[in-house]
Amino acid sequence: MNDRVYNFSAGPSMLPESVLKKAAAEILNYGGSGMSVMEMSHRSKPFEKIITEAEADLRTLMGIPDDYDVLFVQGGATLAFAMVPLNLMTGSGKADFIISGQWAEKAWKEAAKFGDAKAAASSKDAVYAFIPKTGAADFRKDADYVHITWNNTIYGTRYPEVPDTGGITLVTDMSSSILSEPVDVSKFGCIYAGAQKNIGPAGMTIIIVKKDLVGKARPDIPTYLDFKTHADSGSLYNTPPAWCIYVAGEVFKHLLELGGLDAMAAVNRRKAGKLYGYIEASGLYKAPAAPEDRSLMNAVFVTGDETLDKKFVDEAKAEGLVQLNGHRSIGGMRASIYNAMPEEGVDKLIDFMKRFEAANA
Ligand SMILES: *Cc1c(COP(=O)(O)O)cnc(C)c1O
Repeated sequence: MNDRVYNFSAGPSMLPESVLKKAAAEILNYGGSGMSVMEMSHRSKPFEKIITEAEADLRTLMGIPDDYDVLFVQGGATLAFAMVPLNLMTGSGKADFIISGQWAEKAWKEAAKFGDAKAAASSKDAVYAFIPKTGAADFRKDADYVHITWNNTIYGTRYPEVPDTGGITLVTDMSSSILSEPVDVSKFGCIYAGAQKNIGPAGMTIIIVKKDLVGKARPDIPTYLDFKTHADSGSLYNTPPAWCIYVAGEVFKHLLELGGLDAMAAVNRRKAGKLYGYIEASGLYKAPAAPEDRSLMNAVFVTGDETLDKKFVDEAKAEGLVQLNGHRSIGGMRASIYNAMPEEGVDKLIDFMKRFEAANA
């Protein structure tokens, strides 16, 4: 290929090469406008087309029903941790959280600043190696919502199915798995995701929220944090993250060309299946995540020897397989194999793992 590496970073992560090339070709002069999207008024005709198409293409890709708003905002998933309770924890003032990892814990602690946020279940004692099993009885009947983290980026787990909340509104952080496989949006009141894993450059958050949940925000919050501000203005209340929206829009078009999320999911299942299959068969590597909950996007594995793990990461890097170190809190290795990681990158990783195992067994 060229001098690009296979980047297994958990985020920001790889973007499709065709999208990067298109952005490069258009960087000085977008569509004959004589300027870059970065220099363009967000009220201009060309940008209006960019944001309108981006939203329409995302709606097509995810099958987002008409009674949902799609918001493009800033602040990452981290600001959404506050926006969600400020907008939705406004009925009984209670919300229940399933603590399946550090991001889930952060979402819970942020919400606890604004109301009665309860940890309804947790797998912390098992270092989040599995998704806690829950049923409707685990949640308070009058909770405004139940919050989950669909894919746990650090531990490499993801929900095998939508949990039963007994009819309570379900909210999910989908930062590290959005667009990796089809989801039934209608089962959720709100889905949010930072862009920098599967969508586009860092700097944008997508919030998909049921229309009847918009307009319930606490009155004392900053205008920007109210979902209604963005819903009423088509995400153009103030200057939006225009460049991110443009690149994300190109990623959406690229996914539609590939055949949509069913086609993307088939590739993702094949990539993850090969990698976990090899880990299971190997005598050196172990994947701590419970097999039934394993993430398609982040594969966590260890050798059981910290020195050997470090050697693995260093030697892989020398071969152009970079950012394979696990999260700083747990160490080991993590291969983030998001949508834009070519299958060839996974094949090369497995080939390296085999040679490393033979040399170090
Ligand atoms: C990366 C990540 C976050 C943090 O996102 P920011 O956009 O950096 O705020 C939150 N939740 C999950 C699941 C993540 O993977």
